[in-house]
Amino acid sequence: MRRFLRVNLSTGSIKEEKIPEDTLKDFIGGRGLGVKVLYDELESGIDPLSPENKILIITGPLTGTASPESGRWCSVTKSPLTGTIHDSQSGGDFGPYLKFAGFDGVLFEGSSEKPVYLWLENGQPEIKDASSLWGKDVFHTTDAIIKEGGGNGVRVACIGPAGEKLVRFANIMNEKHRTAGRGGHGAVLGSKKLKAIGVKGNKRPQIADEDTFKAATAKARKRLKENSEVTSETLPDEGTAALVNEINERGGYPTKNFQTSVFATANRTSGETLRDTLLTDSMGCWGCVINCGRVSKVPAWSYFSGEGEGPGGGDRGGERGSGSGGSAGEHGDGTGEPGSAGRESTERGVGQHGG
Ligand code: SF4
Repeated sequence: MRRFLRVNLSTGSIKEEKIPEDTLKDFIGGRGLGVKVLYDELESGIDPLSPENKILIITGPLTGTASPESGRWCSVTKSPLTGTIHDSQSGGDFGPYLKFAGFDGVLFEGSSEKPVYLWLENGQPEIKDASSLWGKDVFHTTDAIIKEGGGNGVRVACIGPAGEKLVRFANIMNEKHRTAGRGGHGAVLGSKKLKAIGVKGNKRPQIADEDTFKAATAKARKRLKENSEVTSETLPDEGTAALVNEINERGGYPTKNFQTSVFATANRTSGETLRDTLLTDSMGCWGCVINCGRVSKVPAWSYFSGEGEGPGGGDRGGERGSGSGGSAGEHGDGTGEPGSAGRESTERGVGQHGG
């Protein structure tokens, strides 16, 4: 059974939310269900940065299962940037780990007086004080909550100072580098004094018919690997920056705030150029068989020198390390135990998501 929470940050109340079965069937995934809920609940004309706004952190039914590309999670709110009900998506591990913590989604409403974060562990929710984290950046906040949560098996989505200061394009970040990066959802968390959500647990999504599910996911994996040049070659090879030259050549590359749609030096940041100059490895989100995420090394002469995840693509959290990479059973096909010591030992390693 799917579980949703309603957290009122003004009163501190946390309630289990019942969503009718018909609604869950009509609005299957994170975005659809999130928009439906907010469309029904939000008053028209509210200020997106007021306590009247709500924000839903939500997954889909396949999140955290062995289904390929099932690592995504979704945030839905009234955007301070567009003034519309808006969704923003991110990858990595946070979505699956929200499921392993025992929940499919959390609706936040109201606004806290002091900074707080929500801690979810094996079906138990708790609002915790985040005063010491307010003003801290994403890296510090993530590390602090992981430490407080006991280290292994914790995943964190949080905001940095931009979200706290209500910058209208502020992001929600998970695993340090992953980004729900559209629409200023970070500012909505900031307006609610909600610094972060930390998740931990070992509850696996229940599959109604394991054999049928296994056959369907195997088929989907095979298709992604073999039937499409985009998912089997272009994205693993060049990341999502593969689109830079394609779009620019077609005259659709937003430049100078879309005063023009052709960028003369676009090729300098194209997937091909980045692959040939900076790329050292590729990686992916939970359950991914594509691995569009980049690992790059920038030479010492640059201000931004160093090696790490990015740019572009499905770069995921954690700093670059020298781990040996997880097995397909652990992560690549989503059949391993979440939060196991074995998996954690490769958390910062290369290829842990390889399918
Ligand atoms: S690594 Fe890229 S292709 Fe794979 S799930 Fe993440 S964003 Fe999607």
